Amino acid sequence: MPELPDLVHVEKGLRRAVVGKRITAARTGDPTVLRVMVPEPFPDVLAGRRIEAVDRRGHFMRFTLDGGLVIVVNAMLAGKYKLIAPEAGATRKDPRALGLALALEDAPELQYIDDKRMGKVYVARAADEDKIPVYGKLGLDLTSPAFTREAFGKAIAKRRDQVRAFLMDKGALASIGNAYADEILFAAGLHPKTFCNKLDAAAVDALYAAIGRVLADAIAEIERRDEPIEIKVRDFLKVRGRDGKPCLVCGTTIRAVRVGDGDACFCPNCQPETRKLFVNWSRLNSA
Ligand SMILES: [Zn+2]
Repeated sequence: MPELPDLVHVEKGLRRAVVGKRITAARTGDPTVLRVMVPEPFPDVLAGRRIEAVDRRGHFMRFTLDGGLVIVVNAMLAGKYKLIAPEAGATRKDPRALGLALALEDAPELQYIDDKRMGKVYVARAADEDKIPVYGKLGLDLTSPAFTREAFGKAIAKRRDQVRAFLMDKGALASIGNAYADEILFAAGLHPKTFCNKLDAAAVDALYAAIGRVLADAIAEIERRDEPIEIKVRDFLKVRGRDGKPCLVCGTTIRAVRVGDGDACFCPNCQPETRKLFVNWSRLNSA
């Protein structure tokens, strides 16, 4: 999925290209991706409106339109944004997985394409945007000043699930996906199957610091590379997608392991399994 560092770059690219532009026409290749939460029919509801702002909240992208409307996109696993420069006289064939296309006056066409069709595009009144699923209940914004050690400590304090599931819970933290969950756990030296309630204060410190550092480094690297917004830059990641290859720190073979409903990549040496040590403790505590 495009994750937070990718979307910071996408947000900047979109803002440069589309803010202030008027929508001349809209279309979709897959109406199941669209959720129109207003009575007016698509595409007429969008035509003629001006895009006033683009901003990211967690893993959602919001386009503020004039007349009190918003388009909010949850790109999920495979959604991507693309800017298509107009070609004189060319008739281009739409991609099959076109979720939404906005033709803009004096600007490239904006397309949202979703090969897995898991993402959603919501059209809503700005006043109703908190009714958008997940979006209205996002947790701590990891790029805002609200993401403090204290707030993070509160968010993790009562959790009894695995730390990887906690990291990926969008209602707690906005937002971390599979790739950066792995990178953060590697940076913190935590095994992906560690349980939140087995972390001592030093481990929570390490985890908090790792989130900030990993995201900031990734945002800087993606910014430096400055690829077109549809390109996902992942080749600098240390463990994600590197199972079977040597750890860049210690040389141990990176492994993939099933955690919850996803696969985690980790280094068995840098992120030792600690659960076994704690089993007796938890039994004693709950007895
Ligand atoms: Zn290692």
